[in-house]
Amino acid sequence: MKSLNAQHHILANAHQQVDIIEHGETGDFALVPFQQKLEQSDLYPLKPREIEILQVNIGKMCNQTCRHCHVDAGPDRKEIMTIETMQECMNVLRNNPQLTTVDITGGAPELNPNFRWFVEEIAKLNRHIIVRCNLTIILANKKYYDLPEFYKQYNVEVVSSLPFYTADRTDRQRGNGVFDDSIRALQMLNKAGYGNEGTGLMLNLVYNPAGAFLPPSQQSLEKEYKQALKQKFEIQFNNLYVITNMPISRYLDYLLASSNYEAYMEKLVHAYNPVAAANVMCRSTISVGWDGYLYDCDFNQMLELNVSCKSKHISDFDRKNLNNREIIVGQHCYGCTAGFGSSCGGTVA
Ligand code: SF4
Ligand code: SF4
Repeated sequence: MKSLNAQHHILANAHQQVDIIEHGETGDFALVPFQQKLEQSDLYPLKPREIEILQVNIGKMCNQTCRHCHVDAGPDRKEIMTIETMQECMNVLRNNPQLTTVDITGGAPELNPNFRWFVEEIAKLNRHIIVRCNLTIILANKKYYDLPEFYKQYNVEVVSSLPFYTADRTDRQRGNGVFDDSIRALQMLNKAGYGNEGTGLMLNLVYNPAGAFLPPSQQSLEKEYKQALKQKFEIQFNNLYVITNMPISRYLDYLLASSNYEAYMEKLVHAYNPVAAANVMCRSTISVGWDGYLYDCDFNQMLELNVSCKSKHISDFDRKNLNNREIIVGQHCYGCTAGFGSSCGGTVA
């Protein structure tokens, strides 16, 4: 499967994508504007609290082409963060001790040739490191077999998507054979101590719905996952993050192609939760694109909605500027505020 970008798909153009999200495919779809909902919750303009997490997307290249990918990542994407931009991130971390966590994402971040260097440098600054590892990368080539030991060495928190604990549902979303490789990779991570009680090595899994529906309760699904993975494969993990599919990029393509877009958006709007809105992740995170540009979150990054302040690029990072900015919101934000809310760390309400 090719990325939308390689297909020259209309949704590969961020401006056209925003237009469709806001007004529907025919241009006459109108729901309550997200901004209005925030106003009613006394949250508009949406302002940051304090930026604690630097989420860095170090490239769009991936060994997989999952159906719902909001990055439109895949083997045909060539955008990769350079070592110079990584060094600029390091400068920002040195000068901003309030950035206690660095969340490294992609694509498959491990495909960036300077990935290990980046992790080692961040570890020297004693920051908590999260890597969003797609699991199959560990088995994609011999040179990645030692990733579990590498992560262990730097006490990296591993966060990995596993859409379900059965092969059919996982493979349908992420590609043939992905489930089996993910299970093997999880067993390798367990062997290195990940997910085992008392080791402190955190292994968190991510669930997202297979279709145009909202996710179930995080607590009950985590129990179900833990039982099934333990019984069938002897796998242990720490937490299950349940996330809502964001109506952007390849998931938006799916919604439009299956004529589910309008009904899905109505579901999200109907499930708007002001408590989730108060806790959206963009209030404590800044997202850095592969080319160093700054965004309120990973989703705004993919929609090319740059931060609304003077600090547009990591080389201009200014804590005061960024803390005083207004977060850019749109109809896609309903994906973060439905039900128990959704973020890179699961539910928020
Ligand atoms: S593994 Fe992640 S980044 Fe890669 S295609 Fe799948 S969802 Fe996108
Ligand atoms: S989509 Fe981004 S900007 Fe909108 S609420 Fe979610 S995290 Fe915040």
